[in-house]
Amino acid sequence: MYDIKSMKENEIAQLLQTEGEPPFRAKQIFGWLGAGVSSFDEMTNIPKALREKLKEKCILYSPKCLTKQESKDGTVKLLWELIDGNAIESVVMPYRHGNSVCISSQVGCRMGCAFCASTRGGLVRNLAASEMIDQVRCSGLVTGRKISNIVIMGIGEPLDNFDNVVRFLELVNHPDVLGIGMRHISLSTSGPEGGIRRLAELDLQLTLSVSLHAPDDGTRNRMMPVNRQGGVSRLIDDCRYYCLKTGRRISFEYLLARGVNDSDDHAADLVKLLKGMGPECQPLIHVNLIPLNPVEGAPFQPSDPERVASFERDLIKGGIRTTVRRRMGADIDAACGQLRRRHGAKRP
Ligand code: SAH
Repeated sequence: MYDIKSMKENEIAQLLQTEGEPPFRAKQIFGWLGAGVSSFDEMTNIPKALREKLKEKCILYSPKCLTKQESKDGTVKLLWELIDGNAIESVVMPYRHGNSVCISSQVGCRMGCAFCASTRGGLVRNLAASEMIDQVRCSGLVTGRKISNIVIMGIGEPLDNFDNVVRFLELVNHPDVLGIGMRHISLSTSGPEGGIRRLAELDLQLTLSVSLHAPDDGTRNRMMPVNRQGGVSRLIDDCRYYCLKTGRRISFEYLLARGVNDSDDHAADLVKLLKGMGPECQPLIHVNLIPLNPVEGAPFQPSDPERVASFERDLIKGGIRTTVRRRMGADIDAACGQLRRRHGAKRP
C-alpha cells in the first residue's frame, strides 16, 4: 500500500503512470490531499474508476484524537492514535504572534537522555511525513486555532528520522498543502553524528535548536548518551559549520538540573565554548535556559530559581545572549513524552 499523503506531486504522477492513468491527475489529487480530504470520494473531479483504484492501492488515514488537555495558560496537549495503534503527542501553544504546534517525529526515541520521558521505552518506529503533517493539520482542527508556527520538538529525535522529516518540511511548506514558511519552523536536535551537517547542506531557512545542556563531555555524557558520538567539540564544530553555511540562527537549549550542570564553573565553561565558535557566529547564537520538568523516576531535579537567575547573569556578563524559557502547560504534563507514557503501550 502507498502512503499517498507522504507523496510529492511528481511521485503521485509516477504512480498514476505505472497504473496506466493520465499523470495530469496528480495535480488534482495532490491538491485534494493538501486540502485535507478524508476520503477519495471527496475528490469529485476524479473519475470514479480511478478513485476505486486509489482506494485499493493507497492508505488515507488521519490520526484519532485520544485525549485533549487544556492548561490554564491556553496550552493544549493532544494525544493521537496512529494507524497501527501507537500513540504520539502534539502540543499547541498560544503566543502573541499566533499559535505554535510542537510535533513528534518518532514513536519513542533511542537517544536515551536521562532526564527525558520520551526515550524510556526506546524507539518504536519512525513517523511518516504524512503523520507529521497530520499532527499540524489535526491540531488546528481539534483546537479550532490557526497554526502559524511549527516546532519539531516533541517525542523523538528528528535527525534520526532525517529523510521523513525533510519530506515533511517540503510538504508542509508547499502552497497546496499547508503553506507554512520555513522561517516559521524550528527543529530541535540532540545532535547525533552527521545530522546537523546534512541539514546544513540543504540550506533550508528553518531555525535550529540544539539541545546542548552541558559544556563538557563529562557532564554531557552523564545526561545524554548521544554525546559519545564525537563529544561536545564535534557538536560545536557542526554548529559552527551550520551557521557559516546557512547564515541562520542557532538556539542552544540548556536545561538546568540542580547540582548537575548549573554551577558557576558550568556557566564559565559554556561562555568559553560558545565564544570559541568565533566572532562570525556570535550574532547568530543564543542560549535558551529551560527549567527542568521533573520526570517520574529520573535522577534530576530542577535548579532553584536563584541558581537559574545567577546562571543567566553569568552568561549575559560573558557576552552570550540568553533567555529563560517560559514554562507552559506545567499543569497538564506538557513535558515531552509524559502523556504517552501515562497512556501506556500500543493497543493490540
Ligand atoms: N530529540 C530532540 C527533540 C525532542 S526533545 C532534542 O533532543 O532536541 C525537545 C527538548 O525538550 C530538548 O531540548 C530536550 O532536551 C528537552 N527536554 C526533554 N526532557 C525534558 C525535561 N524533563 N525537562 C525539560 N526539558 C526537557
